Amino acid sequence: MKNSLRIARFFGIDIELHLTFLVLLVFFLSVMGIKGILLVAGVFICVTTHELSHSLAARYFGMRVRKITLLPIGGIASVSGYPRTPRAEMLISFAGPLSNILIMAVFYFPLYFYLGADKFFSTLNIIRGSSEIAGIKDLIMYVYWLNMVIAVFNLMPAFPMDGGRILRAWLSYRCGREKATKIAVRTGHIFALCFAYLGIVYGHIFLLIIAVFVYTSATGEEESVSVEEYLVRFRVGDVISRKAVCLSPEMTLSDLYGQVLSSDQEIYPVLSEGGFKGIFMKDDIFKSYRGDKAAIKVRDIMTCDPMTVKAEDRLDTARKLMIETKSGALTVLNEGSVTGIVTMNDIMRAYLMAKELGEGKGL
Ligand SMILES: [Zn+2]
Repeated sequence: MKNSLRIARFFGIDIELHLTFLVLLVFFLSVMGIKGILLVAGVFICVTTHELSHSLAARYFGMRVRKITLLPIGGIASVSGYPRTPRAEMLISFAGPLSNILIMAVFYFPLYFYLGADKFFSTLNIIRGSSEIAGIKDLIMYVYWLNMVIAVFNLMPAFPMDGGRILRAWLSYRCGREKATKIAVRTGHIFALCFAYLGIVYGHIFLLIIAVFVYTSATGEEESVSVEEYLVRFRVGDVISRKAVCLSPEMTLSDLYGQVLSSDQEIYPVLSEGGFKGIFMKDDIFKSYRGDKAAIKVRDIMTCDPMTVKAEDRLDTARKLMIETKSGALTVLNEGSVTGIVTMNDIMRAYLMAKELGEGKGL
């Protein structure tokens, strides 16, 4: 089941709302009424701007950005690949908080003169929790100052938050990416424990969720960097299976039932008149096993326009793409025609081999 809803598209990037975000919307609507909806919409704009800035900076440095998913604890941009240089990582990480600082700079004087100094600064009491949002002016100012909270919070060196990534990039200049990641991950863990402590002491559930998120994703990132370090010398072309079985969109499920079930090929490129049309995944066959197998055709259930890679792409980029799209294999294309497929097993075999031989170290 798809657990997010596409609601907008900016610069070719889909903006999706995770279903838990809708729960947040219902919660604020029930507690604050229409003000609650406006508040969530304001937060939505600030967080989307933040993530979109990261995404556009990532795209500037040659990375692929597919979508931004908004969760109650913030946004997540689905980016393929990783920054090739510490400078790129630093600028991509800084772009998000910078956009919130820019929003504040642009609206500072208009709001200051429109609402007056008292209103302008009194809203800080709402952020501190000592007063409540009374009217629409309070609401505007609340969203305005929220940009400061977003910028400052994200700039804390709690890896993998923005500040932590900036720290890693800065350390990478001195001691290499792997060691820098280790230090940044330890710092992230310390911050996560502090967040958890403060969350428990002050009964702040939001801080507890952030603590768990920072701790687990910092650990995950450390493992991932270790794999990347070994894969860095490989290209997709080094490991692809060139004997991939391809299907025609007109084949029916009964034509290929036995063939697909007995094979260990996970995805099947679908070709028509020599051109690549999409992929048929092994699991697709289970989705439609109740239907009439003689009537259902490959074209009815294949995935059109899937993510693909080229033989000259880096293997670690292909691995990231697979994790992000939750697929175990990708089609390798060369100017529109299929060269073969690359699977997660192929990648892990290359990783284990390189690790065994001690190759691939030292970016
Ligand atoms: Zn950010």
